[in-house]
Order: sequence, then C-alpha cells, then structure tokens
Amino acid sequence: MASTTPLNLVWAIKGILLPRIRIQLPQLAASLLPLRQLLSFPRHETKRSSPHRLLPPDLTRLHRPSSAPLHAPSSPEPRIPAASLGCPAPPEPRLAPARPPWAPAGARRRPAPRGRSINNSKHAMARHRGGGDLVRLLMTLLLAATPLLAPVAAELEEAEVVPTAPPQVASSSLARGADEGLDDVPADVRCASWRLAAEANNLAPWKAVPAECAAHVRAYLTGAAYRSDLELVARESAAYARAAPLGGDGRDAWIFDIDETLLSNLPYYADHGYGLELFDHLEFDKWVERGEAPAIPSSLKLYMEVLELGFKAILLTGRSEGHRGVTVDNLNKHGFHDWDKLILRTAADRKKTATIYKSEKRKEIEAEGYRILGNSGDQWSDLLGSSMSARSFKLPNPMYYIP
Ligand SMILES: [Mg+2]
Repeated sequence: MASTTPLNLVWAIKGILLPRIRIQLPQLAASLLPLRQLLSFPRHETKRSSPHRLLPPDLTRLHRPSSAPLHAPSSPEPRIPAASLGCPAPPEPRLAPARPPWAPAGARRRPAPRGRSINNSKHAMARHRGGGDLVRLLMTLLLAATPLLAPVAAELEEAEVVPTAPPQVASSSLARGADEGLDDVPADVRCASWRLAAEANNLAPWKAVPAECAAHVRAYLTGAAYRSDLELVARESAAYARAAPLGGDGRDAWIFDIDETLLSNLPYYADHGYGLELFDHLEFDKWVERGEAPAIPSSLKLYMEVLELGFKAILLTGRSEGHRGVTVDNLNKHGFHDWDKLILRTAADRKKTATIYKSEKRKEIEAEGYRILGNSGDQWSDLLGSSMSARSFKLPNPMYYIP
C-alpha cells in the first residue's frame, strides 16, 4: 500500500483538478477574448495625452474629433447666402469645447500643468497601471466564472421567461367592456370584437356566448352575414381545390367535418339561445337522432366540386359511432354522397379532445396512403394538431367551442 506523502497528495489533487480545468478551458478562452481585446491597447495610445486612451480602439472611431462640428449633417444641404434673401447674416454657431467622453456635459478638460504632465509622470503611470491591474484581475475572475454560472443563469432566465397562463378572462366581461375603458363603444361593436376573437381562436377556451352578445350572435346567424361568410370560405376553398396539384392516383383527400360544416344545427340552437346556453350532450343527441339537420348550401356546392375535381372526400366527425346510421341518412337526404370514409368516434376515442382524436385519425388516413390536401371545419380542433392538411379552411361558428 502506498504511503501518503505530500508529493502523492499533490499528484492526487492535480489528477482531480486538471481534467475539470481542461473541460472549461475552451469556454474560458472564449470568455477572455473580449476582455483581451478591451485591455490590449496599442502602447502609443496609452502614452498619448488623449481623451481616447481608456476607450478600446474600435470605439475611438465613434468619438468626434475636437475640430469637427457638433451636429455635422451627413449630406450638407446647399446653403443660400442670407444677404441674397435680404436677411441679416446669422451668427456663426459656437462650438462647445472638446471634452472627454466620460465627462458631464459642459465640463471642460483641465489643461495639464506645465512641466508636470500626467503622461510623463512615472508615479502617475504606476498608479494607473496598478488600478488597471486590479480592474483586469476582477474582470478576469468575473469572466472566468461566467461559463460556470451560465447554466444556472439560463435556468433562472427560463423560469422567468415562461409565462404562467393567466386565468381565462370571463368572456362576458370582455363583451361588456366594463374594465377595458370601452364605455363609449356601442355594445354591438364590442360583440363584433368578441365574435372575431372567438373565430380567431383568441378566446379559447370559452363555454358560452356572453349574455350581452346573445342578440348580436342571433342576428349574425339568422341574417345575411353568416351566409356571406360561409359563401366566402367555400369560394376560397374551391379556388384552392382547382389549383391544387393532384396526384391523380385516387389518393388526394379532402377532409370535411360534419356539424356546422356540411350540416347545420341552427334549428337546434335556435331553441337553445344560439350558444347562450351551455352545451347539453343529451339534448343535442336527441336532435342528431332526428336526422333533420339541413345542408349548408355553400358547403354542398364545395363538396360536389372537390369530388368532380378528383378528390376523395373523407368525413371526420365528433359524432359517436352509434350515430352512424342516422348520420348517413341525414347526409344522403341532403345531397352528400360518395365519400371514401366516414369516421366517427368510437368508445376508445370518447375521452380524447377533438384535436387529439382528429389528429390521430388524420395520421391513420395518411398511413393508408392518402395525401390530405384540404380540410374544412368550423372548429380549430378540426384543423389543428398533427398530420395537418396542406390547406385548412375555417368556417364561422360563434355558438360553441370544442377543444
Ligand atoms: Mg363541426
């Protein structure tokens, strides 16, 4: 067994420390580079009586020479002699004397006493070098510690940058504008803002139409605006479909949601406040089982056109598998035929969000060889997630939100 001598102890410490120092050396060298550039002035600069001597070389280029005017324009405008305009000549601008960059405005540089120049004083230089050495030592230690502290600093910074999700603002207070200083904005305009925010997915999640906006939403849905918005979405979708590069092998797919996309449930929502009431699954299922949802005319037109262009229609709905029969009948009754697939929620999908469920189904569709070129839905959860379509088209629906 080896005896523990001071020499052995030194070798042991060296064996532990050296590898760690070597690991940090590249970072240390990178950290010291700017310091070295900062402190390594040309010798003639430090020996000159110049206000630049404490500035690094590249900063001196930014310092104005004492002979230059204070506000010299980069491209001087031609000057018209004042006498030619019949005006007295303006006084020549008085230039402020040059001052060192660190001195307060208005301070003048004190001339060095004759015969006792600071730059020629060995004692002053020694004091200056001593202070510089101390600053260099402190900055070296600081920069050397930077790589070691970087991970800790990064963790702290990340903890501060990641915001904590604020509690959802009640949509009703948003519509009222009570806390927003919108008292002078008409209620209908505020509700239009609410509706736009809902359509743009800026309110998510929201549960019901604010009571203050019930009349606004009803008027929108039953008037010309809703029909016009639906028509515009269908028209843009068709224009994209006509220009889309089809493979022509029967694998170009267009996905359609069903409720508020192909079929309208407005008759049901007319009896439930057009989204004012909280969604009631049992009541809605009773409506679905009647199979009386009318077609959305603009969507039917789009559906027929994409089929004619050669797309395969795939219907992907949040309706349950138990409603397959009534859904097929309802679709057929209103002119929807010839889809390649009708995908409904099974028991295994029941607890998934619509975003997850539909993403998984789109992935399966792709795995079967389809190329999803278009997707139409009234919810963002119909369109977002994974295996997204090349283009997605959001139909308006200010009545409810499905995550
Ligand atoms: Mg829908």
